[in-house]
Amino acid sequence: MSGVAHSRLHGARAASKPTQWNRTRLGVLVPLGAVVAVAIVCIVVAALTSAQRADDVALERERQLLARAIVNQGEWSLVRLKNLMRTSEAVSAGDINELPSLIQMRLRAWLSPVGDHDLVLVADSSGGIVYTQPGPNLVDPERSKAALSRAHDIVESMRAPMAPMPAGVVRLLGGAPSASHGGVTEAVFLLTILDRLNLFTVARIGEAANAPSPIVLTVRTIDQDVLNRVGERLQLANLRMIGGAKPDGDNLYEFNDADSQPVVRFAWLPQKPGAEILGSVIPFIGIALGGFSLLAALVLRYMRATAAMIAAGENRLRYLALHDSLCGLPNRNFFSDRLEEAIADIKIGGPTGAVFYIDLDHFKDVNDTLGHPIGDELIRNVTLRLSRIIRDDDLVARLGGDEFAVITVASADNAALHTIASRMIAALSSPYSIGGHTIVIGASIGIAVIDRHSVGSADIMRYADMALYRAKNEGRNRACVYDAVMDADLSQRKLIEQELRETIDNDGLKVVYQPIFNASGETVIGVEALARWPHATRGFIPPSEFIPIAEHSGLIIELGTKVLRQACLDGLAWPGITVSVNVSRLQFRRLDFVNMVEQVLYETGFDPVRLELELTESTLLGNVESAEAAMHKLKALGVRFALDDFGTGYSSLLYLRRFPFDKLKVDRTFVHNIERTADAAAIVHAVISLGRGLGMKVTAEGVETAEQHLFLRAAGVHYMQGFRFSRPVEPLAVTARILNPGVYRTIEGDAKAALAG
Ligand code: C2E
Ligand code: MG
Ligand code: MG
Repeated sequence: MSGVAHSRLHGARAASKPTQWNRTRLGVLVPLGAVVAVAIVCIVVAALTSAQRADDVALERERQLLARAIVNQGEWSLVRLKNLMRTSEAVSAGDINELPSLIQMRLRAWLSPVGDHDLVLVADSSGGIVYTQPGPNLVDPERSKAALSRAHDIVESMRAPMAPMPAGVVRLLGGAPSASHGGVTEAVFLLTILDRLNLFTVARIGEAANAPSPIVLTVRTIDQDVLNRVGERLQLANLRMIGGAKPDGDNLYEFNDADSQPVVRFAWLPQKPGAEILGSVIPFIGIALGGFSLLAALVLRYMRATAAMIAAGENRLRYLALHDSLCGLPNRNFFSDRLEEAIADIKIGGPTGAVFYIDLDHFKDVNDTLGHPIGDELIRNVTLRLSRIIRDDDLVARLGGDEFAVITVASADNAALHTIASRMIAALSSPYSIGGHTIVIGASIGIAVIDRHSVGSADIMRYADMALYRAKNEGRNRACVYDAVMDADLSQRKLIEQELRETIDNDGLKVVYQPIFNASGETVIGVEALARWPHATRGFIPPSEFIPIAEHSGLIIELGTKVLRQACLDGLAWPGITVSVNVSRLQFRRLDFVNMVEQVLYETGFDPVRLELELTESTLLGNVESAEAAMHKLKALGVRFALDDFGTGYSSLLYLRRFPFDKLKVDRTFVHNIERTADAAAIVHAVISLGRGLGMKVTAEGVETAEQHLFLRAAGVHYMQGFRFSRPVEPLAVTARILNPGVYRTIEGDAKAALAG
C-alpha cells in the first residue's frame, strides 16, 4: 500500500545508521585500542626493564663475588704466611740481618711449608735478598727472572713507604704505607708476569716499629685451575683471564693499578637471569594480550549487539510514533511529513496530486451501539479496503477517530477527482460483516488539489477540511472538491456565528409552531416548536443552516433553553394540547439538562404532562445509561418523549425497546417517497407496525398531499404533521387554528401567513 512513502522515509533514515554506528564504534574503539596498546607497551617495557635490571644486578653481583674470590685467594696466602711466621722454626730478624749465609738451612726448613709456591724469598732490613726458594712451577728461567725482578720492586716499595706503587701492580690487601710506620707490615699484591696472574704476599719479620725489617715474600700463580674452581663455586661459566677485546656477550671484570691501568681482566659467560625472567613472563604477557584482545572483542560484540538492540528499539519507537497502533497505517505526523514532501516534489516539476480527506459517516453510531471492539474491527476493515483501491505510490493514513486521508497523484480535473472519490465511497459503503453484524456506513470526502501554488500541508489540509465540511453538509456519502468559494463560506460561517450569538443574546430568535393533527387531520392534538431566525438582510434563515452552527459553536445550549422557555410560555395559551420541543444531542448530554427542564417548567408553570421532548437517535448514542436515567427522571415529572426523524439514523430496535419513548416520528423523507418508491412505502408500513407493536404512538412528518394522508391514515399512523395541514405558524395563528379545527383543506390559503417552513 504505502510502500513508496515508507521506503523513501525509512531508506533515508537507514542510510545514516551505519555511519552513526561507525562513529560510535570508532568513539569506543579508539580509546579502548589506545588503552590496550598503552597497557601492552607498559607490560612489555616493564618486562624488558625488569629483565635488564635483573641482568645488571646479576652482573654487578658476579663482579663483586669474583673480586671477593680473588681477594680471598690473597687472604688465604697471607694467612698461610702469617701462620708460618708464628711457628717455632721462624727465623728472627736479627739472624737474617746478621747471619744470612749461615742460616740458609734454617730458612729453608722454616719456609718449606710454602714450598709449593712459585717463589719464596727473604730480604734483609736493607732490602738485600738473602734467600730465594723457587717453587716447582717456576722452571722457566725467563719467568723466574721476571718474578725476581717484580719481587725486588715490591720489596723496594715496602721499604720506601711513600714511593708510588710500581706500575702494573694491584694492592689487594694491606694498609697504605706510612712514613712513621716505616712501611707496611703485611700486604698482598696482584700482578701479571708474562701473561700469568700472580699473588705476591709479603710480611715483615720482627716487631721493629720504625726501623726497616727483613721481609718474607711469596709468589703464587693463579692459573686456570684456580679460576675453574672459583668459577664453579661462583657459578661463573667459562671464567678466564683475557688479554685482548672482550668477546661479545661475556661479562668482564678488571683489576686496575694505581694509575687505573688494567692489570688483569677476567671474562665469563653471564648468567643473564633477565632472559630467564623474560622467558617465564612472556607466556603470561601472551595470555594477558590474548585476554585484552578477547575483552576488546567481547566489548565490541556487546556494543554491536547493544547498538543493534537500540537501533531496533529506535525503529520500533519511530514506527510507533509514525503509525496508528490500531490499524498500522501511517498517522497524522507521517502524513504531514509526506504531504510536505509531495508539495516539494510538485513544486520542482512533479505531477500534481490531491489529498482526499475521508470521514466515515455513522462510525460513531457503530462504536456506540455495537461496542468498541466492533468499531476497531470496522476501522481495520476500512483500512484494508482503502489500501486495496489505492495505488502503490499513494499514501493512506489514519488521521484519528473515523478520519482517513489519501495522498495520490491525480490531475486537477474535477471529474477525475470525483471518479477516484466515488471509487473510495463505493468501496467503503458496501456492507461489512463483523462479529455477526452486518454494518453499513458511508463516507464523506473533501478533496484538495496539490499543485505548484500550494503553500504548505497545513493549508492543503484546511482546504480538504472545508471541502469535507461541504460534503457532509450536502447530505453525506459524497465528495466535494475544494474551491475558493469555500473560503468565503468559512468566513461567512464565522460571521453568521457572531450574528447568531448577538441575536440569541438579544432575544432575537423567534419560535413558530407547526400544529400536529389526529389521523383524520381535523383536530390539533399538539404543536411542534421550531426556531426561526429573522435576519435583518437575509430574511428568515432556516434552522437547517443555523442549528449546525449553533451546535458547532456551543450556542445551542442557550438557544435550546430559550426555545423551551418560549414554547412553555406560549403553550400556556393552548390548554389540552401537547407542545413538542426539539432537543439537540449536545443539550441533552449536559448533566444539568434535567434540572434545566425542571427549572423552566417551574418558572413558566407549564404542565409537564403537556411537554413532549423530541430526541433523535444520535442524541442517545454513546451515553446510553445517562440518557436513560435523564429520560426516566423527566418522565417521572410527566414529560413525554418522541423519537424524531425515525429511519434516518441508526434505527436500532434495541434502542426503541430500551428507551421510554411515547411517540415515533416517521421521517419526512419516507413520507415524501411513499408514492415514488415501493420500498419507502414498505418501510413506512414496517415502522408504523413496529411503533404500534411497541405501544407507541406514530406521527408522520412532512405530509404534503392528500394521497400521502390517505396512505398513512390507512397504514395506521396516529398523528399527522405537514404542510397539507399547516405550515409552522406564529402563536396567534395556532390559537386561531385550535379554535377552527378541520379547515385544513383551505390551509394553502394560510400559507402567506406562515413563516418559512
Ligand atoms: P424536525 O424536528 O424534523 O422538524 C420538522 C421540520 O420539517 C421543520 O423544518 C418543518 O418546517 C419541516 N416540515 C414540516 N412539515 C413539512 C412538510 O410537509 N414538508 C416539508 N418539506 N417540510 C416540512 P424546520 O423548521 O426547517 O426545522 C428543521 C429542523 O431543525 C427540525 O427538524 C429540527 O430538527 C431542527 N430544529 C428546529 N428548531 C429547533 C430547535 O429549537 N431546537 C433544535 N435543537 N432543533 C431545531
Ligand atoms: Mg422535530
Ligand atoms: Mg423531524
